Order: sequence, then structure tokens, then C-alpha cells
Amino acid sequence: MRHGFGGHERWRRHWRAAAPKRRYDVVIVGGGGHGLATAWYLARNHGIRDVAVLEKGWLGGGNTGRNTMTVRSNYLLGDNARFYEFSLRLWEGLARELNFNVMFGRRGVLNLCHDDHQMDAAAERGNAMRLSGIDSELLTLDELRRELPLLDLSSGQRYPVMGGLIQRRAGIVRHDAVAWGFARAASELGVDIVESCEVTAIRREGQRVVGVDTTLGRIDCGALAFAVAGNSGRLAALAGIRLPIESHVLQAFVTEPVKPMLEPVVTYGGSHMYICQSDKGGLVLGGDLDGYNSYAQAGNLPLVEHCLTAAMQVFPSLARLRILRAWGGLADMTMDGSPIMGRIGFDNLYATGGWCYGGFKATPASGWTLAETIAGGREPELIRPFALDRFIQGRLLDESGTGPFPNRH
Ligand SMILES: Cc1cc2nc3c(=O)[nH]c(=O)nc-3n(C[C@H](O)[C@H](O)[C@H](O)COP(=O)(O)OP(=O)(O)OC[C@H]3O[C@@H](n4cnc5c(N)ncnc54)[C@H](O)[C@@H]3O)c2cc1C
Repeated sequence: MRHGFGGHERWRRHWRAAAPKRRYDVVIVGGGGHGLATAWYLARNHGIRDVAVLEKGWLGGGNTGRNTMTVRSNYLLGDNARFYEFSLRLWEGLARELNFNVMFGRRGVLNLCHDDHQMDAAAERGNAMRLSGIDSELLTLDELRRELPLLDLSSGQRYPVMGGLIQRRAGIVRHDAVAWGFARAASELGVDIVESCEVTAIRREGQRVVGVDTTLGRIDCGALAFAVAGNSGRLAALAGIRLPIESHVLQAFVTEPVKPMLEPVVTYGGSHMYICQSDKGGLVLGGDLDGYNSYAQAGNLPLVEHCLTAAMQVFPSLARLRILRAWGGLADMTMDGSPIMGRIGFDNLYATGGWCYGGFKATPASGWTLAETIAGGREPELIRPFALDRFIQGRLLDESGTGPFPNRH
């Protein structure tokens, strides 16, 4: 209130707007959640503070500010489940750690099932999760009816609902607050955050990278890390590396705000739609990827129509809501649906990327483990399964559950 009426006088910037120095111990490309988290954990966990985060636009202007905020650890494969559960635990304490309200809401994530096969797959996944110490519950139709009275569970539907799998500890986190919280905390520990600074070339000498060319000039570094989401392929190409990644547009859209009506995030596997209600009251919906490669960060009407058709099947009461806006972000899709993390190509070049549909939920764990990799020179156990060489060795980590529709096997 004071700041609002006072014309923002004496308003303290959350992070210093730094001019880049000539050299840093570590340069991180990408001022989204992953890059900023890596910087913060480098400074906080390892005392490495001579760090710069270079962002070509504004902080959180990439996927971090465009995603649908869902965080969960409802995976079938042990390697995935362990990593995302570690992340979920970090989310649970993040507001306290950063002293910044990231608005973590433990709403639950519910996957609806539409046939016997999906029910079996959900039961298998739920059991695997419980064996790994992760919460999950299989819900019958009657239980669904009690939990979500707005769901249309009549049998005359095109894809009748048979039950669902819920992870109650999953939820949503205010996405841009995550970028701001990490940025403020990192900046306070001495990290330089440089916006409007695009990396245009990577300087290499033998097996090492020695620096980057940017729109603000040349910057040398002891180690370089990419955290550029949908641009991972482009950045790697600057270093002469070809990643097994395709970039696709992933869209979402939001309705006008209404009173609280939907507690969990609900995924509808019948025809690719998921929905949640933001803290502001808008219903946020998304679906599957655009089927062609693109770097366009824009939404389009066919996807809105497709998702709404599906949403109306299960939530007919949405019919009178108006759509406020639609947008798109860039999903860097790997061939097995799992990320690429750790050292790539050079002795001192690191990457976190290939997050496909779901890298927001990985943000704190990605930052934590990439920082550990950079500081210690080798990947911690938790992320070894995500190493790039798995594509050469054939150790793929293939789980369809990495997308929002985990019952699609
Ligand atoms: C519509 C949509 C919905 C999603 N929903 C979810 C969800 O519910 N849950 C979930 O877990 N995940 C979700 N995701 C995925 C998630 O948003 C991303 O995986 C995650 O945010 C990636 O974070 P990041 O920090 O790596 O990338 P970003 O936030 O994209 O940050 C990368 C930054 O790098 C910068 N950059 C790129 N090239 C350069 C360069 N040459 N020089 C300098 N800077 C550069 C970009 O400008 C960008 O700001 C969704 C994505 C989309 C698009």
C-alpha cells in the first residue's frame, strides 16, 4: 500500500541490475527458473559467488512465466520418481528458504482414467510411487463424485471416466514469483544478473570453453552452463554440439476469474486436456504440443477449441466462461521424454535442458544438482540417469508419464 501510493519511492529493486564484468568463474546462460536456481545454489550451497546469469530478454520471460504451474512427482520409473520427489520436497520449503512467497499450494494432481487399461496403468504407477515412499491414491467413481461434484461422471460421455489417480502433495506454485525469489536471493549473495544480454557465440580452446560473445560484449568464464529450455538445441549448436532435441510450441490459456470451484489440477487423458484454477480464480487450461517444430511463442485457436471441447465433456458448467488470453512457450522435446543434465561435449560445459512438457516442477532440483555438478566436477547420483550419453549407450529413460497425460502408455 505504502509503495503503491508513494509512487514507488525508495522502492528497493529485488535484484541488482548488473553490468557484466570481463570474466566470471561461472557463466549461466538463461534467466529462467533453472538458471537462477543454479546460480543461487552455487552461491548458497558451494560458496561460488563469482557467477553471472545472462538473459537475452527479461527474467522469467521464457517458459518460467508461461507454464501452468503444476509441480508433482507422480512417476512410474524409479529414476524419475526419485528426482521429482527431491524437487517436490525442495518446493515445500522454498518460500522459507528464499524468504519469498512463491505461493506453493498443495492442491493435488488428479489423472482421470477412461478405460480398464488406464486404470491398470494408474494402479501400477500408484503402487510404484508408494513403494518409493511417494503418496498416491487410486480413486473410484464414487470417491471422485464426492471429491469433485462439478465433474460430469455420467456414462453417456464420449470417454466415460472410470476412476483416477491422485497425488495430494502435488500442487501449483506461482511461476514468476519463483524467478523473482531465486533472483533476489542470488543477487543478495553477489551473483550478477544481466538482462537484455544475448549469448551469440561460444569461445572454445581444445576441450574447454573459455567464454561467450554477447550483445554486451565478450565475457570469459571458468565454466559455462546452459539453462535455456526451448533454445537448448540452438545454444548447443553454438558450441558445435547437436542435441537429440526438437523444439515445439506448447500452449495454454486462461478464462476470466471466478470463485474457487476446482481444487486439484485435473488431467483428462481421453483427449489431452488439463485444467486447474489459479489463485486469482482463472481456469488455466492446456493440452498437447503443436505437431510441428517451431520457435513461435504464441497460442492459436485450434488448440483452444480442442481443449475446450474436452473440458466441456467433464466440466459442462464451464460453458459460459470467457477466455481471456492464450499464449505459447517452447518445449525442448527429447526422444525419451526425459531431460538432459550434466556435462556436455567439453570439460567445463554443463546443461540442464530437454525438459519436454514438465521442467517447471524440476526447477529447484535442477538448480541444486547442476550447481553440485559444476562445483564438484561430476554429476551427483540423482541426475546420472539423465546424462546425454544415454542416447549413445541406449539407456533410454522412456516414460510417457513425463507429460501431463501419464496414463498414455
Ligand atoms: C504452456 C506451458 C505449460 C507448461 N506447464 C508446465 C507445468 O504445469 N509444470 C511443469 O513442470 N512444467 C511446465 N511447462 C514446462 C516448463 O515451463 C519448462 O520446462 C521450464 O519452465 C523451463 O525452465 P527454464 O528455466 O529452463 O527455461 P526458461 O524459463 O524458458 O528460461 C530460459 C531463458 O533462456 C533465455 N535464453 C535463450 N537463449 C538465450 C541466449 N542465446 N542468450 C541469453 N539468454 C537466452 C530465454 O530468454 C529464457 O528466459 C510448461 C511449458 C509451457 C510452454
